[in-house]
Amino acid sequence: MTGPVNGAINGAAAHPPPRRAAAPRPARAAARAAPKEAASGRRTPYPFSALVGQEEMRLALLAAAVDPGIGGVLVFGDRGTGKSTAVRALAALLPPMRAVRGCRYACDPADRAGCEDCRARRSRGALPTHSLPVPVIDLPLGATEDRVVGTLDLERALAAGVKSFEPGLLARAHRGFLYIDEVNLLEDHLVDLLLDVAASGENLVERDGLSIRHPARFVLVGSGNPEEGELRPQLLDRFGLSVEIRTPEVLADRVEVIRRRDAFEREPEGFAALWAEEEAATRQRIAEARGRIGAMATPVAILEAAARLCLALGTDGLRGELTLVRAARAVAALEGEAAVTLAHLRRVAPAALRHRLRRNPLDEAASTTRVERAMAEVLGA
Ligand SMILES: [Zn+2]
Repeated sequence: MTGPVNGAINGAAAHPPPRRAAAPRPARAAARAAPKEAASGRRTPYPFSALVGQEEMRLALLAAAVDPGIGGVLVFGDRGTGKSTAVRALAALLPPMRAVRGCRYACDPADRAGCEDCRARRSRGALPTHSLPVPVIDLPLGATEDRVVGTLDLERALAAGVKSFEPGLLARAHRGFLYIDEVNLLEDHLVDLLLDVAASGENLVERDGLSIRHPARFVLVGSGNPEEGELRPQLLDRFGLSVEIRTPEVLADRVEVIRRRDAFEREPEGFAALWAEEEAATRQRIAEARGRIGAMATPVAILEAAARLCLALGTDGLRGELTLVRAARAVAALEGEAAVTLAHLRRVAPAALRHRLRRNPLDEAASTTRVERAMAEVLGA
């Protein structure tokens, strides 16, 4: 597992030992200790604005934050290029969410549906609320299905004879981000399950005599290195956007990455303070974009351009067009525009389409080139 904020820059320390000093803890306490994302929530996150380069990834993450309906973001690239850092940095930028106090799923008080508990409580009166940071939950490769979807709370079952549900990672990721490093190595049945839940927004657990349904809406962020294992094409297609990141090859960029990371690690709060103004501006941009996107005009010409592009590329189904239009709209909203233009479409087309091309999966660069060529043909240079 990669440390959330100590995440490496260029591979050398891709897996820093998290708090090795805390080792001599009783086994039971350790097993029940707060998972790392809860613990790291209190640490200062690396500022999103201080990320160097990786424009495409940043734009894709911002777009997904503005419109979670875009679907997840898949980040292909070298290890230690700051993928996990970027997701955590983005979540820290999002305004805290109002949640029903006492709800295990952090239901949105404005959501009339909510979980079963909230529906029952609501019928008895107004629900108390509180503010929570947007969660970023790691799904480790070795996670069992129980841990992901939740399971029977055995302890309670044995001690009190009560059949109750112990929520899993999907419940904790509700309204936030679910991050899977090396998603291409995740077992197929888990990937299927995740994508189903991500699409339906609900986790349905029927096992051990339990029948539980709870809301589980999250932005799925998967990362992986295509050289280490392929994602099935039908799964690739379910991710909204796919971006590629590389270890910077320009000396000055590498130096800048190291300089910032080093400054951050030496003095996280001081470093964050230096970026506070830019962070506030980005936070404002996201909030305004979210407010603007509902009324954003999408001219028919844009829909046509998206459809022509997908026709030219021979993408299957209509998911490509839909994602392309949604992502272009989110980018337009982020830029404070009143309508989507071809320029917005062009900016997101490679991310929205490159993973939907009929395959040549080992040649990712070729996918990008194909999208660019199609754009030049269909939309003009
Ligand atoms: Zn609830």
